[in-house]
Amino acid sequence: MRPARAVIDLSALLHNYRLARSLSGCAALAVVKADAYGHGAVRCAQALAAEADGMAVACIEEALELRAAGIRQPILLLEGFFHADELELCAEHDLWPVIHADWQLDALEQARLSKPLNCWLKLDSGMHRVGFFPHEYASAWRRLKASGNVAEVVMMTHLARADEPNSPATLEQLQQFNTATCGLNGLRSLSNSAAVLAWPEMASDWTRPGIMLYGSNPLPGEHDIGGQLRPVMTLESKVIAVRELPAGAAVGYGARYVAQKPTRVGVVALGYADGYPRHAVDGTPVRVDGQLACLVGRVSMDMLTVDLSALPHAGVGSRVELWGASLPVERVARYADTIAYTLLSGVRRVVRSYHF
Ligand SMILES: *Cc1c(COP(=O)(O)O)cnc(C)c1O
Repeated sequence: MRPARAVIDLSALLHNYRLARSLSGCAALAVVKADAYGHGAVRCAQALAAEADGMAVACIEEALELRAAGIRQPILLLEGFFHADELELCAEHDLWPVIHADWQLDALEQARLSKPLNCWLKLDSGMHRVGFFPHEYASAWRRLKASGNVAEVVMMTHLARADEPNSPATLEQLQQFNTATCGLNGLRSLSNSAAVLAWPEMASDWTRPGIMLYGSNPLPGEHDIGGQLRPVMTLESKVIAVRELPAGAAVGYGARYVAQKPTRVGVVALGYADGYPRHAVDGTPVRVDGQLACLVGRVSMDMLTVDLSALPHAGVGSRVELWGASLPVERVARYADTIAYTLLSGVRRVVRSYHF
């Protein structure tokens, strides 16, 4: 069997969830959208089920997958519903839609539902993607409160720059939120992972941690609290071939890497079709039998190549960690000019193996 695997540490996931909850001191929706950022939504939700106050996914398809797997917690639909015919399913399965647009208010008011829905009403406090503008917010809230199809209304917004500890934007968004929701009675939710870690003043009734559950720190540099996170996914494979190349020999497509001296190159069974970034530059760190080594040459679809010159004991069969327990995924992301979110959620084809 091809040795490429994503090993998922479910006790690290639980540890990170508990950390999120203890840092904010309030209820936390575990965000498991996009197949739990590539970790497998059903298995992750099942591991969290005994403790999580609720889950959040992007859409009803993702929520119904969790319901079919026996998850009983409330589930928030972060993108809300896309068509009115989803509303009765929300009622049947206790799914909470985010309401971000006028047409959704109309649809909710006109629906005939078997029971009223808990709704989260989204304020656009500055991200300018979705949500009601501050001047529209109170009237949208009153329409929800007046509808017989609505039970509780949670007031929410989303932060655009919480991962920038020195930006004033986050406190400006908080101020917009406080002004728009002033005098409206109900629970509130603002924080994503970066806010849980860096902006304790955002604390409200519900947080929505995602990336931190998977052990990746969204803040720049090394952050004290981020250091308490435990990586959940270790992406690994093995060396399947070794080449002794003379100086001047090129490696891989486009001859991007040319050996400057005699070089021992290991070929690893993992490539961009598994989700490893093709844009990773020469020098991107990897771990071979626990030792640091680096990528050389362009990443191929099924294989990548590493310099083993400094690791004489490494060879065919050596274990290679691309990121995970001993190599932070956010460090690899920097070498590929991307972020940990895209790397984790892009993992595919490899076998996932779970342990506690
Ligand atoms: C994805 C998402 C989150 C989680 O964000 P992280 O940065 O992964 O913690 C929270 N809230 C909303 C609305 C989201 O879409």
